[in-house]
Amino acid sequence: MSKANFEIKAGGIAVLQFDNPPVNSLGFELRQSIVEGIERANADPSVEAIILTGAGGVFSGGADIREFGTPKASAQPHLMTVIGAVEGSAKPVIAAIGGVCMGGGLELALGCHYRVAAAGAKIALPEVKLGLLPGAGGTQRLPRVIGAEAALNMIASGATVPAEKLRGTPLFDAFADGDLMEAATAFARRVIGEKLGLKRVRDSKVNMPNHEAFFRFALNSAKAMAGRYPAPVACVEAVSAAFDRPFDAGIKRERELFAALMLSPESAALRHLFQAERAASHILDVPADTPVRPIRKVGVIGAGTMGGGISMSLINSGIPVVLLEMKQEALDKGLATMRRNYGGALKKGTLTEAALDQRMALVTPTLDYALLKDCDLVIEAVFESMEVKKQVFEKLDQVVQPGAILASNTSALNLNEIAAFTKRPQDVIGLHFFSPANVMRLLEIVRCAKTAKDVLATAMQLAKKIGKVAVISGVCDGFIGNRMIARYGAAAHDLVMAGALPAQIDKALEDFGMAMGPFRMSDLAGLDIGWAARKRRAAEFPDRDMKNVADDLCEAGRFGQKTGAGWYRYEAGSRNAIPDPAVTDIIEKYRRQQGVTPRKVSAEEIVERCIYALINEGARIVEDGIAQRSSDIDIVYLNGYGFPAWRGGPMFHADQVGLSEVARALRHIAAQPRVDKAFWTPAPLLARLAQDGKTFSAHRGSDK
Ligand code: NAD
Repeated sequence: MSKANFEIKAGGIAVLQFDNPPVNSLGFELRQSIVEGIERANADPSVEAIILTGAGGVFSGGADIREFGTPKASAQPHLMTVIGAVEGSAKPVIAAIGGVCMGGGLELALGCHYRVAAAGAKIALPEVKLGLLPGAGGTQRLPRVIGAEAALNMIASGATVPAEKLRGTPLFDAFADGDLMEAATAFARRVIGEKLGLKRVRDSKVNMPNHEAFFRFALNSAKAMAGRYPAPVACVEAVSAAFDRPFDAGIKRERELFAALMLSPESAALRHLFQAERAASHILDVPADTPVRPIRKVGVIGAGTMGGGISMSLINSGIPVVLLEMKQEALDKGLATMRRNYGGALKKGTLTEAALDQRMALVTPTLDYALLKDCDLVIEAVFESMEVKKQVFEKLDQVVQPGAILASNTSALNLNEIAAFTKRPQDVIGLHFFSPANVMRLLEIVRCAKTAKDVLATAMQLAKKIGKVAVISGVCDGFIGNRMIARYGAAAHDLVMAGALPAQIDKALEDFGMAMGPFRMSDLAGLDIGWAARKRRAAEFPDRDMKNVADDLCEAGRFGQKTGAGWYRYEAGSRNAIPDPAVTDIIEKYRRQQGVTPRKVSAEEIVERCIYALINEGARIVEDGIAQRSSDIDIVYLNGYGFPAWRGGPMFHADQVGLSEVARALRHIAAQPRVDKAFWTPAPLLARLAQDGKTFSAHRGSDK
């Protein structure tokens, strides 16, 4: 099926318009259609010039992500072949560029003999964001038209650049200030009339005195900044090839570097996450065309840490908020904190005072529930107490209009119980934001037993609107993220018991790539929260052993950063964690009380225990149906818990290690003394997949 419309206009101008919505991505059929169109135009004696353009005001967004991992992605004609056909055309080809022109789309445009851009067009070579480099000549052609520095900046950062910014460079031969096709047609007439002929970017000479010094400097900077990622360094190497060898040899070098990156685990991880993020928004039993409920106004209950951050997320996207508190002081304090939290953006100049006033004007502060009446969604963020939540939800049930969605931001309470406080459990959902809610991208959308499908679809759409990446979770203790982190924390605690110290454990996990080790994280969050939770649970489950060395730290008034001491000590005004001999004393005393003789613990053991604890619990979460797919867990860990992107998330990491190796290590841990054998025994799903030589990614339910 043709994915491009071919038409011959007056004056011998053939127009080939890509038609592959939504962004004219260069899938197999479109690639075929372009080659056919170029051949047809060349074979037709009436044609004197060819215009390539895209339907829907968009030139092309680049490769077709729907084709990734399928045979179509590598089926001929490849993009290189298409560009070869365009560049080799005996009749001049003009790209008429509107909307987005990215990745392969820009490489294709660079293969054309001329380029005319619409004023608002945007261009980019974003491959580096997937751990790759532009592999269809982009690294060789772009520097020939915009110079080494500008090309390298675009290629190594992947940033989107307004075409306007490159007006005046040989990248664009003309700009359309009005209608793009009119301007492109006028330009084509000129090409024909003035016999401008074929201007191939590959033939332009690159010339930069001292390019060796420039690229040496660029290479060193890329090495310093890229950390674990090989792609930015490879981008510098590829672009420098445009300056130190002929075009075809440069293309060969680009190919080699591209092929190496394609095989790198870092790129595999980034490509996995790219797909995973898209997959996360698909709710398995909720069709994509499910009608959503309009969200015009949102009520937020509680103006504390979370309520304030949630309100900021909403008003940042222009959604009016009714913010309700119990007392005027709490309301005033909450509003003042919100304003203060915008201080950073004001200082950086990304927000003006006037824009801030506009945003804050979207908030209606109130103590009166009646003002929530016409809200389309109400998000509760009051104290974490079932009694308080009960009062709030019963009240909401009475006041808020029928059809509105009632959401709770609870971290740990049973949402089915909360839903049952209302007469409309189908409208109740969990919206578990992470702190600080205006900054953290992650949102767990918690599906209760009776939540209606359109409520889920609406929540997913709202998440996108406010810039969050959302994952669906079933109801369970801790949902996806905190249920796993509890196991990770327990593993870290076991290691302290075995003989490791907090700083050693944090270092091993930070070396693995975690943004922050568990003990530094615990000091940041505050030890008192877990202490209170353990006390509550000890009362609830008197037969369970809830003892934790952190209790002794809390008894000593060490609640973390907020008290200047926790697992570490902190100098006044500093967040620098300093190991503290007083903590070692508390730990050693605790070990003696527990009758433990400490042993040496290696960094490998620390990483294995903590990361495999995440993986094993993750496998149970997938098997229980709490997560829809293992890749959702990766999204949660990446966006909410500082898991390194270059490892692709805990479940992808497990696939990379090999599930049989993970299962073997878990069995080994389960056989150690003083461990929770039931937990460390490989989860049934993990054991099964390991036995069959399979992966989490390929497991049914991981529909990417
Ligand atoms: P917080 O103590 O900072 O704020 C709670 C606010 O709710 C207070 O301002 C309080 O005055 C107000 N409030 C209490 N009862 C109320 C009522 N009946 N009506 C109106 N307002 C009332 O607490 P927080 O940290 O913002 O947590 C709120 C909720 O979010 C809890 O359920 C918590 O478990 C959850 N949560 C917290 C975090 C976090 O990191 N802090 C993360 C995710 C979820």
